[in-house]
Amino acid sequence: MKVLLATSNRNKISEFRDILKEDGIEVVGLPDMPEELNVEETGQTFLENAILKARAAFEKFGIPTAADDSGLEVEALENRPGVLSSRFAGENATDEENNAKLISLLKDVPDGKRTARFVCLAVFFTGEKEVSFAEGWVDGVITREPRGTNGFGYDPLFLYQPLKKTFAELSAQEKNKISHRKKAIHAIRYKILEFKKALPDGS
Ligand code: IMP
Repeated sequence: MKVLLATSNRNKISEFRDILKEDGIEVVGLPDMPEELNVEETGQTFLENAILKARAAFEKFGIPTAADDSGLEVEALENRPGVLSSRFAGENATDEENNAKLISLLKDVPDGKRTARFVCLAVFFTGEKEVSFAEGWVDGVITREPRGTNGFGYDPLFLYQPLKKTFAELSAQEKNKISHRKKAIHAIRYKILEFKKALPDGS
């Protein structure tokens, strides 16, 4: 059985491929497809955006499709930036600009009220009416200064308290064991396996 992951992000594709390899499922990504696919993420929630991506890819390529959407929710900002995480400081904002905006908005927020959560929604779409979905999250605290050089996005500001390190101070392997994305991908794997089992030849 083949599953398309509706992303061009090669890190996501290889992580997903590694997880599903043991189940005998072949994972392909958008770069493996014969034509390009661009989907505007116009949803109000992570779930809506993940479904938009999965549905568009399934309709174009006809392969059972998984997709994810993720971002940062900050409690003191009423869960912003949320679905706007990559565009928090503007349409083509860099990670540094988004991080600077976050630091500035939280400058008067005291320690103890700086809690945040990375959230990831993964979906699996097979053309049936129903869409399977799974959510993963990880809790942390927003620091006052960036710390660490690994990762991407808000990692330098996201303090993971059990390890007393920001995500940017963790190696990729350490982060991938605890991340919101890892949890969502492992949960959606079960839905994909259920679908596989129900196929006529179980393949
Ligand atoms: P996407 O769902 O991978 O496109 O992520 C959307 C945006 O959320 C990214 O551009 C980042 O700003 C933020 N984000 C999602 N996951 C992470 C993470 O693991 N670390 C840091 N930032 C993240």
